Amino acid sequence: MSGGEFDLIRNYFRDATAQREDVVLGIGDDCALINVPAGKHLAVSMDTLVSGRHFIAEVDPVSLGHKALAVNLSDLAAMGAEPAWVTLSMTLPDADEVWQQWLASFMQGFSALAACHQVQLIGGDTTRGELTITVQAHGFLDRGEGLRRNAARDGDQIYVSGTLGDAGLALQMQQGRQIKVNDSAYLKHRLDQPTPRLALGRDLLKYATAAIDVSDGLVADLRHICTSSGVSAVVHVEKLPLSDAVSHYLNESGDWALPLAAGDDYELVFTVPLERQAAFEAVITQWDLRCTWIGSIEISEPSSQVKVVLPDGKIIDEVSGYDHFNA
Ligand code: ADP
Ligand code: MG
Repeated sequence: MSGGEFDLIRNYFRDATAQREDVVLGIGDDCALINVPAGKHLAVSMDTLVSGRHFIAEVDPVSLGHKALAVNLSDLAAMGAEPAWVTLSMTLPDADEVWQQWLASFMQGFSALAACHQVQLIGGDTTRGELTITVQAHGFLDRGEGLRRNAARDGDQIYVSGTLGDAGLALQMQQGRQIKVNDSAYLKHRLDQPTPRLALGRDLLKYATAAIDVSDGLVADLRHICTSSGVSAVVHVEKLPLSDAVSHYLNESGDWALPLAAGDDYELVFTVPLERQAAFEAVITQWDLRCTWIGSIEISEPSSQVKVVLPDGKIIDEVSGYDHFNA
C-alpha cells in the first residue's frame, strides 16, 4: 500500500491499545523495543486467518477483530503464559472508505479484548491483497515453566474446560443447516467471540502436565498430546461437558461427532497426574469456569490413539473423523 498505509497506521493501529510500561518504543519506527523481565521465558505464537478459509467474507468485523486476537491469546493460555504484546499483519483488499470503516470495526473488537488482558499492539505490517490477518502474540512464563504437549504420562486424568461443540453447532447453522436450537445467540457468540482461557492456563501450571487448546476438535487436539507424549487417551463421551443448546441438539440427533470433532471452541484440554487430582478437584469447585473430567491417559499399542467410549459402552479407536460417530 502507498500513502494510504501511513494514514491507516496512524488512524487505526498506533493508539489502538493501552501503553504498557515495558514497551520502550511502540508503533512508528523500524522495530518495537520491549523489555523482557529477567528470569522469564518469552512465549511466542502466531496464527493467520484467511478470508474464505477461516471466516466468511461477510463476517461481522468487530467479532473478527476479537477472534483474530482471541485465537492467539488462546495459544498462550494453553501454554500457561501471561500475554503482553502483539503484532498484527493486515492484508486488505483496499484502503478506500468502505475498508476504512471495516478496519475501524475490526480494531474495535481487537482493542476491546486487548484491554481485558493488558495487551499492547506494538507493531505490524499493512499491505494490499486478499483479506488476510496474522497476529503474533508474545507473553511470559517463568523459567522452566510451560504446559507442553509432550508432558502427559500414563495414569494422568484428562479434563476439559467450559463446554464442547458450541462453535461447531453455530458453524453448521451458519452454513445453512436447519437446526432447531433454543439459544442460537449464545451459540453464535461462542463461534464469533471465543474467550481465551488465560487465567485457567496460568492456574493450571500448578496442577497440569500437558495442555492444548481445542481449535481443531477435541479428538484431533488430544491426539496431538498423545503423539507428543507417546501415550494414548480414553475419553468417555457421556462425560463431555455440553451447553444446554448442544445437549438438546444431541438428544434429538445423537450426533456425538459434534462435541468430539468440531473445532473453534478454544477450551483447554489438559492432563492432571493422579497424585494431584484430589487437590485439583478441590480447587476447581471455587472456580467460575467449569472443568470436567472426561477420561484418562494410558499406555497402549499402538500409542497415540484417542479411544472414545460411546454411551452404549462401545469403544471406537482409531478415530479418524466425523463418520465414525454418526452410526
Ligand atoms: P517498514 O517499512 O519499516 O516495514 P511500515 O511502514 O511497514 O514500516 O510500518 C511503520 C510502522 O507501523 C512500524 O512501526 C510498524 O510496526 C507499524 N505497523 C504497520 N502496520 C501495522 C499494523 N497492521 N498494526 C500495527 N502496527 C503496524
Ligand atoms: Mg512494513
